[in-house]
Amino acid sequence: MADVAGADVAGADPAGADPAGVDLAGADLAGADLASIGVIGGSGLYKFVDAIDEILVETPYGAPSAPLVIGEVAGRRVAFIPRHGRDHQFPPHRIPYRANLWALRSVGVRQVLAPSAVGSLTPDYGPGTLAVPDQVVDRTSGRAQTFYDEGGAVHVGFADPYCPVGRSYAVAAAQELGWAPVSSGTLVIIEGPRFSTRAESLWYAAQGWTLIGMTGYPEAVLARELALCYTTIALVTDTDAGVEEGEGVTQAEVFRVFAENTERLRDVLMRIIEGLPEERDCPCPHALDGLNVPIALP
Ligand SMILES: [Zn+2]
Repeated sequence: MADVAGADVAGADPAGADPAGVDLAGADLAGADLASIGVIGGSGLYKFVDAIDEILVETPYGAPSAPLVIGEVAGRRVAFIPRHGRDHQFPPHRIPYRANLWALRSVGVRQVLAPSAVGSLTPDYGPGTLAVPDQVVDRTSGRAQTFYDEGGAVHVGFADPYCPVGRSYAVAAAQELGWAPVSSGTLVIIEGPRFSTRAESLWYAAQGWTLIGMTGYPEAVLARELALCYTTIALVTDTDAGVEEGEGVTQAEVFRVFAENTERLRDVLMRIIEGLPEERDCPCPHALDGLNVPIALP
């Protein structure tokens, strides 16, 4: 199996925990089974989980946003990556999306949960609304959006971009915790880092699209290209420029609403992880069936 190409896994010491740690430096991660669920989201979402280990995974696509923090939730091993980096240093268009997904798969992850802050394109969904979209529209440009650049075309199906099982567990988990989510909807991903103009926002809304964000693509398609389950859990932090009069969305507002909801979003994630079946009974593992994949997956 190839080359997780010099995957360099340096055992690090999370917050002074076990100094012995697992030192995987130089190990070939192919077939590693350190975690089965991956969470790509803000650092506030996992700071209450006991970190078992922290590993830096080098991938053919460079380093992920940060070292992976491995923790345990309800008997499942979970690998966390802060999407924007530990110091929030990566703007949406510079996030190492390919490295993040590759790194997760290389430690054994097959199910990915992707919480993110989004704007609302409808007055029906105010700040604090939780949504589990079922469609995505790509309005980004210039982002690396495939692992299969060479060796022939690999056309993965993407008609339904999210894992149906992951989505149903996400909806159920939020309902159980009294935070009834919007259980479908279309998330449009814009290039950013600027917010939309009013005209753009009105145009998106007129298409029937309901949510807007900057990070959900190419994350979703890269997960599909690695035959991973991928589920977006979207927290509405603002209403987009076209929805209401006023100054439009500000970064401070986004951060404030996200911070206010971090704890309950974390609770929802924990509940999803508790429920998510380990055996995958969904189309995601078959995303590459019958395709001639020119590279070996980790
Ligand atoms: Zn799936």
